Amino acid sequence: MRQILIGQLKGVGTKRAEAFAAAGICMAETLLYRLPRDYLDYSKCVPVAALKNGMQAAVRVRISADARFARVSGMTLVSAQAQDETGGVLLRWFNQPYRRRQVHAGETVYACGRVDTSKGRSLLNPMLAQTLPGILPVYPAGGGLTQRVLRDTVRAALDAVRGDCFDPLPAAIRERYGLCNLAEALENAHFPIDEAARVRARTRLTFENALLYLLAVELEKDERRRGIGTAFRIDDTEEAFLGVLPFRPTAAQSRAMCEIASDMGKPVPMNRLLQGDVGSGKTAVAAYALLIANHNGYQGVLMAPTEILAAQHYETLSAWFPDDVLLLTGGMRKKERDAALKRIADGSAKIIVGTHALLQEDVRFQKLGLVVTDEQHRFGVAQRAVIAEKAAGGTSPGLQPDVLVMSATPIPRTLALILFGDLDASVLDELPPGRKPVKTRYIAPDRRDDMYRYIEKEAASGRQTYVVCPLVEDVDTLDAGSAESIYEELKAMMPGTAVALLHGRMKSAEKRDVLERFRSGETRVLVSTTVIEVGVHVEQAAIMVIENCERFGLAQLHQLRGRVGRGSEQAYCFLLAGNASEQAEARVRAMTETNDGFEIAERDLALRGPGEFLGTQQHGISDGALLSAGANLRIIKEAQQAAKDIMELPTAENNAILERASRLFLQRTQKIAMN
Ligand code: ADP
Ligand code: MG
Repeated sequence: MRQILIGQLKGVGTKRAEAFAAAGICMAETLLYRLPRDYLDYSKCVPVAALKNGMQAAVRVRISADARFARVSGMTLVSAQAQDETGGVLLRWFNQPYRRRQVHAGETVYACGRVDTSKGRSLLNPMLAQTLPGILPVYPAGGGLTQRVLRDTVRAALDAVRGDCFDPLPAAIRERYGLCNLAEALENAHFPIDEAARVRARTRLTFENALLYLLAVELEKDERRRGIGTAFRIDDTEEAFLGVLPFRPTAAQSRAMCEIASDMGKPVPMNRLLQGDVGSGKTAVAAYALLIANHNGYQGVLMAPTEILAAQHYETLSAWFPDDVLLLTGGMRKKERDAALKRIADGSAKIIVGTHALLQEDVRFQKLGLVVTDEQHRFGVAQRAVIAEKAAGGTSPGLQPDVLVMSATPIPRTLALILFGDLDASVLDELPPGRKPVKTRYIAPDRRDDMYRYIEKEAASGRQTYVVCPLVEDVDTLDAGSAESIYEELKAMMPGTAVALLHGRMKSAEKRDVLERFRSGETRVLVSTTVIEVGVHVEQAAIMVIENCERFGLAQLHQLRGRVGRGSEQAYCFLLAGNASEQAEARVRAMTETNDGFEIAERDLALRGPGEFLGTQQHGISDGALLSAGANLRIIKEAQQAAKDIMELPTAENNAILERASRLFLQRTQKIAMN
């Protein structure tokens, strides 16, 4: 595609170009690949009588009377009565006083906006037009970039590249999979003439993204196969390990251990994902891998995303391997830290557990052979690159450490197979024996008080409760109950019960204190944001309340639920919803119907599409648009076939797209532990 600066586009001056630059958009191409997040369908007129609350609609109406102007609690309100043959509708604009001069009795206009029927039938802040606007894109706006500016600039960009829009997809691939060309796809992704055109366009662009991504994965796998790793001896490590482990591994754990040992025994660097529900016992599997490294004279690292988690891992591992384990976190005093660094450098620390603090410049290993990351999606790409370099620096350059990535966010099997193939993912699909499944209930708004009274009663007999809220503070525009306000509410509601508050903005010492008091049982009810989401383990906590559950994804809800039910008592999860949307209902249904993380993941996949699993959050791919939420499995599967075909057939066209893939993604994916 022709390279055009945003500032060269029609209608874009210096100031606007700066606003685009601030949003990370400097080139027309970048802008064009940022697809609308939604569309407004103003391609057909709706009769006024058919308007329903909440819908976005275009009507063709005659203004019956000149606009009226009023001030209502600090806002200006312009309103005008209008009608078509089927009925009347009130047009209302907030804080757009100039509208007063735009509507005159007797004129006929197209008015497009959101329908509100709470007080009569009205259109809120409608746009007015002389012709039907068609289907309009809606972009993520902000920073001076209004919808209007974005639409106009995208239009200008489309016009500017027309006729000079090189298509990275080889023609043969386009033909085989029935995909339209790039120019057509971009035009219709932004300004579709109809729904079918929009779907065709999105399919084609999603395919392109998926293909580039999967090509990068293939290239990276190729590269890895050629990488130099350490072939660890496995011998009798398992026996030694079972000797210190206080329980017998589940069948799933044994299988994962076997797969890991086989990887580690090869001279190719291991790059394995260990997936398993919360509580499935990933730590023990990781410990086995660490022990293999130790038995071969190598150090192993276990990186956790929070200090709380790191401390917990440290506790677990030092019980199994006394003397060999060391904790390094950011909160350490200088003297402590220096002593720790010394033990890392001289090799007397064999297993090093820590947080991001492990990535600092002055942390030098004697001989690092294995890196395990827990809940890896919390680590950035760059950070994982640093740790890989540390390993190489300690030994010969080019030598890569084995990598094991643990995740409690199951990726649906269907998707994992596509992304990692059979070989590189181990799954713990079984919980250790003796666990009672958590009972999950939906709590209707009018039962909320009863529930809290029940919790108060349970607290009196020593049972503890988590209350999780989506936000720290009340935000006017969102009706999500905040942790702070619920904390105040509960304190007032149960004066005899020790209630505490925990959120991510607290200092880490403060957080530790709060958690310690909860762990010791002194605090009975812990109100918190999602900081507790990952890995915290308090056995007596048997009740999990999730406020505004509609604001959490299914996977996240499931993770939260996993915080309880770790003791022998029956545990409960209570879900409350702020509004009864279809989404909320589907989530509640999934949660009450199954306790299996993989099943939940499959449902999440069905509800939201694969894009969610491949976005920033889960795999460290920083490009959210990489595989948009619109991607479906069929597209991904086809793209995978295409990627394989391209890898096998080095034509000029194929080489060009391979090069593009490596430019765009390889650098990034190489640095990512997995995929
Ligand atoms: P995860 O990290 O997968 O969420 P953990 O490794 O923290 O799970 O294990 C959860 C709990 O289960 C720990 O208390 C651990 O000691 C225990 N556990 C793990 N494996 C077994 C097993 N095979 N038998 C009994 N208990 C186990
Ligand atoms: Mg864990």
